[in-house]
Amino acid sequence: MKPNKSYKMKNEELKMNSKKPLLQDTHGRDHAYLRISLIERCNLRCTYCMPEEGVKLSPKAHLMTYEEIYDIAKTFVAHGVTKIRLTGGEPLIRKDIPVILEKLATLPVELSITSNAVIIDKFISVLKANGVNKINVSLDSLDEGKFKHITRRHEFKKVYNNILLLVKEGFSVKVNAVLIKGFNDNEIVDFINFTKDLPIVVRFIEFMPFDGNRWDMSKMVSYAKVMAYANNAFSENRIERLQDAPNDTSKNYKIKGYKGSFAIISSVTNPFCDSCNRLRLTANGQLKNCLFSATESDLLTTLRQGNPIEPIIRKAVQAKFKVRGGMNTIEKLQEPKLHSKNRSMITIGG
Ligand code: SAM
Ligand code: SF4
Repeated sequence: MKPNKSYKMKNEELKMNSKKPLLQDTHGRDHAYLRISLIERCNLRCTYCMPEEGVKLSPKAHLMTYEEIYDIAKTFVAHGVTKIRLTGGEPLIRKDIPVILEKLATLPVELSITSNAVIIDKFISVLKANGVNKINVSLDSLDEGKFKHITRRHEFKKVYNNILLLVKEGFSVKVNAVLIKGFNDNEIVDFINFTKDLPIVVRFIEFMPFDGNRWDMSKMVSYAKVMAYANNAFSENRIERLQDAPNDTSKNYKIKGYKGSFAIISSVTNPFCDSCNRLRLTANGQLKNCLFSATESDLLTTLRQGNPIEPIIRKAVQAKFKVRGGMNTIEKLQEPKLHSKNRSMITIGG
């Protein structure tokens, strides 16, 4: 669906309204990027993301409708958000995803999506029609058996083939691999070689602690360790350090001559909080000012009561901690009682 004229006019107004200081925190960080989780459910069960016993799902009536998602997103855009990424759970299993994409595509933002890609082949045209070009796909192993082990589902071939399809269809694809010691750290070089003939970015993510994911520091594979594997496999002059984009969460590298590149997201050993420009909206309409925040602000109830959400947003942004929701040291990050104050990742969205 092409944006109609009235939406275009609205967009002009939104642009004029932008740059109000609503989204600047007390550490001088402007927030131009909103991640919206559309759903708490998923068609995979990644062990590091969803607790084995599952999560307590919100009643349907407590989840944002597509109109509410649009209304809330519009307020953020009016105050300077220029990027919106849809996530979940698995965003593509939400039945009204085409309408959500159509509505959000009328806003003056770069719209992108993070998906496990199990069913993304069915959405190629709807993604293209709504200007979604940047797609992040989770894939933690290039081995079918290991994929089944970590996701608790047999969907490797679909995900793998869909990554190839996305590239063929011209999407800009980033593959996210959460590294877990003794599970997939021996695949780091295979993943780097996956970028030889494919113009993708493979991003190695340090395993992070969330409620119920049985994290412990000893399972985490650090940025330094990834580089040790890379340096061991490729001579130093073949590994090129790339310029990171502004507000990038990753440190980017390339093997000379390879079509793609690789990167490390080091939230544990090298947090990138200084340049953080992200805010998160959960599927039940709670604003999280940080991935690790223990507190949330209820935008949905306020919206449903017919009250303005700006004061709640302002308060939440002002309350943002400088580093990792207040877990500013590795010691604090290792305190399980602090993780249990946060949600499980499946209900945050990454
Ligand atoms: N289902 C979609 C997917 O898997 O891409 C979107 C939601 S998922 C929660 C978003 C991202 O969070 C994925 O790239 C996933 O690997 C990452 N993630 C989940 N749990 C994590 C953890 N404990 N540590 C680091 N990354 C995690
Ligand atoms: Fe689902 Fe994504 Fe979490 Fe895996 S990482 S369980 S695919 S939401």
